[in-house]
Amino acid sequence: MEYMEKQDMNQYETIVGMEIHVELATSSKMFCSCKNDPFGAPKPNMYTCPVCLGLPGALPVPNKKAIEWTIKLGLALGCEIQLYSKFDRKHYFYPDLAKGYQISQYDLPFCRNGLITTELGDVRIHRVHLEEDTGKLQHAMVDGKKVTLVDFNRSSVPLVEIVTEPDIHSGEQAKLFLKKLHQIVRYLGVSSADMEKGSMRLEPNISVRKIGERELPKYKVEVKNINSFNFVKRAIDFETKRHIELLEAGQMPKQETRGYVEGTSSTVSQRSKEEAADYRYFPDPDIPPIRLTEAYVTEIKKTLPELPDSKIERFMKEYGLSSDEAVHITDEKTGADYFESCVSLAQGSFETQNITPTIIARNLINVHEEEMSPKKRIDALLAKAQEKNVDAGVITVAVTLVLGQQTKAIADYKHGKLSALMFLVGMVKKELKGKGDAGIIEQELKKRLS
Ligand code: ZN
Ligand code: MN
Repeated sequence: MEYMEKQDMNQYETIVGMEIHVELATSSKMFCSCKNDPFGAPKPNMYTCPVCLGLPGALPVPNKKAIEWTIKLGLALGCEIQLYSKFDRKHYFYPDLAKGYQISQYDLPFCRNGLITTELGDVRIHRVHLEEDTGKLQHAMVDGKKVTLVDFNRSSVPLVEIVTEPDIHSGEQAKLFLKKLHQIVRYLGVSSADMEKGSMRLEPNISVRKIGERELPKYKVEVKNINSFNFVKRAIDFETKRHIELLEAGQMPKQETRGYVEGTSSTVSQRSKEEAADYRYFPDPDIPPIRLTEAYVTEIKKTLPELPDSKIERFMKEYGLSSDEAVHITDEKTGADYFESCVSLAQGSFETQNITPTIIARNLINVHEEEMSPKKRIDALLAKAQEKNVDAGVITVAVTLVLGQQTKAIADYKHGKLSALMFLVGMVKKELKGKGDAGIIEQELKKRLS
């Protein structure tokens, strides 16, 4: 593709909508009381019951916490909360789906119309709904035969699906958007959002169009279940080039589902995706519609923590951090809380009051000692500051000593060579074995040389 003119590339724009699945970290599953810990389970199919195995006669009961957390996430994303909602059955066959349908939400999701801002443009959230995860297939060798096993520990784990509008226009923007979403989910504490374990799974829907066109392209390519922000970026970059090349050759890219190939940073066709599949959605007759009250939603809103954007702004205003420092410190909520504990400790005593929030922030950014308590960190900073402090008399002695030795530098300085002064400061510091404040030493030298 190297031969493609940059000119041609620049005539097109990428259009991406994302679907993100996030497993909620509730203690029990979505519709039964089985333990929700598929990754920690000692053996396959341990955390199962008639409900999550889809046995006849079993009745699902929605998990209240999962609904609460879905609404919490919706509120954090600025969504409108639907007070009337319901669960629907989405039918399809796959061996990891015991019931032959997934309980999901069709036309009445809990949340709609949210927004995440990124430096490369806003991304509107189309909807946020709640559903259940499937089991997991395991390909293995048993008695010398290739077999596929099914583990239902993950079957019916609460799963939130977030769907964006097609507002993302580059791999880089997708990455910024996903990082922010991931950060918000972690701030809320509703999911580990651990990508390696599949607790957060990403699916971009990608197409390109000529710049200036207003209609959405007539095709889109879905890249399934990616587990890293960088892979999403690379998949989008790869697809963009591929589509432009096809369009330039007069061909329409095929509507299909593709898989990401890590080794080559490319994608391969998995199956063609015809029109929207007919899942025969209908309301789950076992689960009555859900009616929420304004008061209930207001109560949940009160439990929202301060979110990253406001925290960054506050840290800049309240503590005088630079925007880079504030962004860094607020990356994880635990880190931001830790920083504030350090600040309040430092401000709490006269001894440490010169240890400013900026000094603490820079120390946190540079010294990664996760186990170190805030108290220990402030003590270490104080020790460092005290080490720098040298008695004025000691400085005078060192300055006298250096001035007695460096006659050439003194002459240079007196002839207006400023670098000679810096050299003398360096010599005094050397004499003090690195201690002493450079500013104070400089003042003392100037005084003595004038
Ligand atoms: Zn169960
Ligand atoms: Mn889904």
